[in-house]
Amino acid sequence: MKRIGVMTSGGDSPGMNAAIRAVVRTAIYHGLDVFGVQHGYQGMIDGQIEPMTARTVSGIIHRGGTILHTARCAAFMEAEGRAKAAAQLQHHGIEGMVLIGGDGTYRGAEALHAEYGVCCIGMPGTIDNDIGGTEFTIGFDTAMNTAMEAIDRLRDTAASHDRIFFVEVMGRHNGYIAMMSGLAGGAEEILVPESTTTLEHLVESMRTGRARGKDSMIVVVAEGDELGSAFEVAQKVAEISEFKDTRVAVIGHLQRGGSPTAFDRVLASRMGVCAVEALIAGETGKMVGISNQEMVLRPFSDSRTVSNRPDLRLLETARILSV
Ligand code: ADP
Repeated sequence: MKRIGVMTSGGDSPGMNAAIRAVVRTAIYHGLDVFGVQHGYQGMIDGQIEPMTARTVSGIIHRGGTILHTARCAAFMEAEGRAKAAAQLQHHGIEGMVLIGGDGTYRGAEALHAEYGVCCIGMPGTIDNDIGGTEFTIGFDTAMNTAMEAIDRLRDTAASHDRIFFVEVMGRHNGYIAMMSGLAGGAEEILVPESTTTLEHLVESMRTGRARGKDSMIVVVAEGDELGSAFEVAQKVAEISEFKDTRVAVIGHLQRGGSPTAFDRVLASRMGVCAVEALIAGETGKMVGISNQEMVLRPFSDSRTVSNRPDLRLLETARILSV
């Protein structure tokens, strides 16, 4: 292995830049050439491939987003698109790729290796923490903290006006951000896709809160909750209860940006070193994960088949503590 590439793909997350930096510098440290592929698989197809140096990645460890940009690319799902991408890699002499993204990105990598023999190692980058094979993904910790800070701010105004806020956080398929930021922000109720909460139960819980002297309350809603979006939940609660004058805040894409936390920077740095050293050792078809504080290599398929669900007992913890 003499020359490798690095790419970010799929949804962006804070810490991707720290990951790129780690990959580039580890490659250089071990005497490899390293190229950056811009705009995910689309850039690979279009030949947006540039050499990177230790200085190209100076001053980015603390920046959110990704200097390589990211994209979703339908063309790479077709054999023709992958042929063009593989030809570009070959043209640049790139034998191995580090792909920072999620399970969609890994599926693409599996095809690239199966069809063209490109060695591929994945790094998990997503705020949702929904990738199997790792306990944490790069960006989750930052997003969780951003959501918590937003909840803190909303609590100030909620408390001042004796208001109830429904706060929607990201999490279409999983409730990690909702559960953790809700617990950390002292939410009265947390609605997540993994656990069914009925409208009646929610209203009952809000009534209990009122009866215990709570003038203001925060209900955190993961965007993928079965009761609907925060707006829908607020509307449904208003329809069947006395809680008609509530407020809704959707944190949205604010959770995707911002300076990564120390945790995410350290995770990205460790994973980047591990990914490049795996390529050098001749590994392919694997993703880097963290398990019991250790870097681990897992087959790409683990990203889909191994479950990474939040511990639902935390909902009970939040309930006990909101008494
Ligand atoms: P993530 O990597 O965050 O899960 P996506 O699911 O959007 O994000 O996947 C990123 C990109 O990976 C897609 O836009 C597509 O180019 C590529 N990809 C996803 N699934 C496949 C597949 N089955 N075959 C080839 N490429 C794929």
